[in-house]
Amino acid sequence: MKYCPECGGETLEGSVYCSLCGKPIKRDKEETDSFDRVPCSDGSCIGTLNESGVCGVCGKPYNGDPVG
Ligand SMILES: [Zn+2]
Ligand SMILES: [Zn+2]
Repeated sequence: MKYCPECGGETLEGSVYCSLCGKPIKRDKEETDSFDRVPCSDGSCIGTLNESGVCGVCGKPYNGDPVG
């Protein structure tokens, strides 16, 4: 359960605005997936590789140096 920083009221998980005071709720940290996101090797693409190892946006396979 998250709490509104403005009014301290309880807010639903994932809600963007407080249901009580209507203030936007800032999230300190993004929830991370079970695996690290690898950015697309295409510098002009903002996609990330999916579980198959290809970009989820442009569909190109990763052709850069392996990271980590
Ligand atoms: Zn509130
Ligand atoms: Zn891409």
